Amino acid sequence: MALALRLDATGNGALGENVCLFPGRPAAATRPRSRILLSPPQLAGGELASLDHTLAAGWIAPAGPVPEAFEQAVRAAAGTDYGLATSSGTAALHLGFRVLGVERGDEVWTSTLTFVATLAPAVQMGARPRFLDVAPESWTLDPNLLEDRLAQAATKGRLPRAVVPVDLYGQCADLDAIIALCGRWGVPVLSDSAEALGAEYRGRPAGKGAALTAFSFNGNKIVTAGGGGALVSDDAVLISRARHLASQAKEVAPHYQHETTGYSYGLSSVLAAVGLAQIGALADRVAARRAVFARYALRLSDLPGLVMMPEPGWGRSSRWLTALTIDAARFGATREQVRQALDAAGVESRPVWKPLHLQPAFRGAPFHGSGVAGRLFDGGLCLPSGAMTPAEQDHVIDTIRACCRA
Ligand SMILES: *Cc1c(COP(=O)(O)O)cnc(C)c1O
Repeated sequence: MALALRLDATGNGALGENVCLFPGRPAAATRPRSRILLSPPQLAGGELASLDHTLAAGWIAPAGPVPEAFEQAVRAAAGTDYGLATSSGTAALHLGFRVLGVERGDEVWTSTLTFVATLAPAVQMGARPRFLDVAPESWTLDPNLLEDRLAQAATKGRLPRAVVPVDLYGQCADLDAIIALCGRWGVPVLSDSAEALGAEYRGRPAGKGAALTAFSFNGNKIVTAGGGGALVSDDAVLISRARHLASQAKEVAPHYQHETTGYSYGLSSVLAAVGLAQIGALADRVAARRAVFARYALRLSDLPGLVMMPEPGWGRSSRWLTALTIDAARFGATREQVRQALDAAGVESRPVWKPLHLQPAFRGAPFHGSGVAGRLFDGGLCLPSGAMTPAEQDHVIDTIRACCRA
């Protein structure tokens, strides 16, 4: 029976007719390029050799030399002393909340413009989310708003257990400002840098300096393990506690002994082998994504009402995804009309994240801000940003240009 596998933009497989499941060569090489996808998984070239080496040595478990080597590579990329490879970015965030002591009824704060996974584990732990708006110059957590809210919360004795800034689409939040504000009140910072491996903030790697930083190696991210994540820190104690919880919180004893309950969150050696082969390509991929962004900016920013996501002076975005906003009145078409025109032309694009405070799942959670994130959602669009030929990118650009009715 000929099973078939098609990869979608999230890197998840769906049964289809495009590609044999075991064709004896990498799926990407045999996949006819029918649609231009947002951020499809890319092969670096060394994956088969890395897997072959790993399997030949009999290393399959979510422990041992291959996950350890991957952790070392992630630490090097993140510039931190300690790091733990996990089965997903969401798992890394969950472990982060656990080791920071988040408990039922605690508040956890984040910027509202993000993916649901930033805060989902904390909410599942019984924490109460509070959403803050983003700053227009970075689309990331607004430090001025954070300062006000922390001061008010301190007066009421209701400080958050953790603040989670998000490095959006590869762009770092203003981490030093956020750490200084939180530090004033003793509130730890857990940086959700899942979208920003390879980005820089004031010359250091994304997330460096936070108490804990989470990364993702999901199929749509800039480098992938085929699924996976990491939690990194300069604090040995936090990472060793996370490591303990990630493998079922087993105490040292001949029998199975547990002082608390943990999780099965280790990264398999098989996936770590893929991640290891990929992470060497990180610098090239950042350069490639920045070039994709620059080309969009060059060929689109003459259009009225169309503005590229800004890049503040404090950092160097990885431009994981190219995002822009469309002012419908000036451009002559709405974001949704552009998205549909792209879709009809065989191009996947997506609205900017729907703010979490507008998500039914978080109905009733407090939000503070002046609607910046909401406006970015209304007019914001993410464009294909992964490996593309110049002709493919031209097709995206021409389709957008044709929508302009100004
Ligand atoms: C991808 C992503 C995650 C989750 O990572 P997974 O590895 O898919 O669990 C968390 N936060 C943000 C902002 C992300 O983009």
